[in-house]
Amino acid sequence: MSTFYVRQAVVDLCNGLSRRGYLAGTGGNIAIRIGTDRFAVTPSATDYATMSAADVCVLRLDDLKRMEGGRAASVESGLHARVLRARADVQCSIHTHQPVASACALLGKPLDVPEGPLRRSLGSRVPVIGYAPSGSGWLSSKLARALREDIQAYLMLNHGVLCCGASPTAAVEAVEHLETLTRMHLTHMIEARAAREPRQRTILLQVASALAETSPFDRTDTP
Ligand SMILES: [Zn+2]
Repeated sequence: MSTFYVRQAVVDLCNGLSRRGYLAGTGGNIAIRIGTDRFAVTPSATDYATMSAADVCVLRLDDLKRMEGGRAASVESGLHARVLRARADVQCSIHTHQPVASACALLGKPLDVPEGPLRRSLGSRVPVIGYAPSGSGWLSSKLARALREDIQAYLMLNHGVLCCGASPTAAVEAVEHLETLTRMHLTHMIEARAAREPRQRTILLQVASALAETSPFDRTDTP
C-alpha cells in the first residue's frame, strides 16, 4: 500500500495547525496510523513551512524502525507510538506547544470539562502528565499510565499537550477545543483574582479581556 497520501496528510495537518498558531517553527509533532503495524510521523527538527511528504517518516509501530523517509523521525515518536499501541481507536496523535494550553500546563492542575461540545471531543476531564524530559521513555511511560479511551487531551507539565482522536479531524478538533477550554479556565482565574485584589483590578481585567478574545494566532483567513 502506498503511504504517500498519509504522509501528505501529515504535511497538510502541520500546515493547517501552523497557520493557526498551534505549531510554530519546528515545535510539536504529528502521527497518523497506517494499518495495524505502522505510522507516519513528522521528521525531527524540520521547518513545517518547507516540509514535503517525502520528509515524513514511516515507522514500524512495535519497535520504531524507520521504513520510509530520509530524515530522522521526531524525538517524540515513542510518545505517539505509546498512544497508538494502547488505543486501537486512535488514528491520529498530535503534540503541540500551543500557547494557552501550554501556559495552563505550567499550573499542573487537571481540568474538568463542561458538558457540551467540548466534553464530546475532549472527554470529561483533562489530566496532567508529570514532567519528564522531551523525547524520553520516562515521558512516554508517564503518558501511557494516564491513557484512557474516553480522554482525548492531556496536559504535559511544563511542556505542552497531547491530543488524539479517531480521525485527524477529531484530533485537530481536540487541539482547538483544548485551547478554548484552557482560555476559559485562565480567564476565569484572572477575573477571580481581580475580584480579590481591587488595586490590581484594572490591569488584571485588561489581561483577561485580551485572553478571552479570539486568539491572535487565529489566521484561518491565510491561504
Ligand atoms: Zn514538545
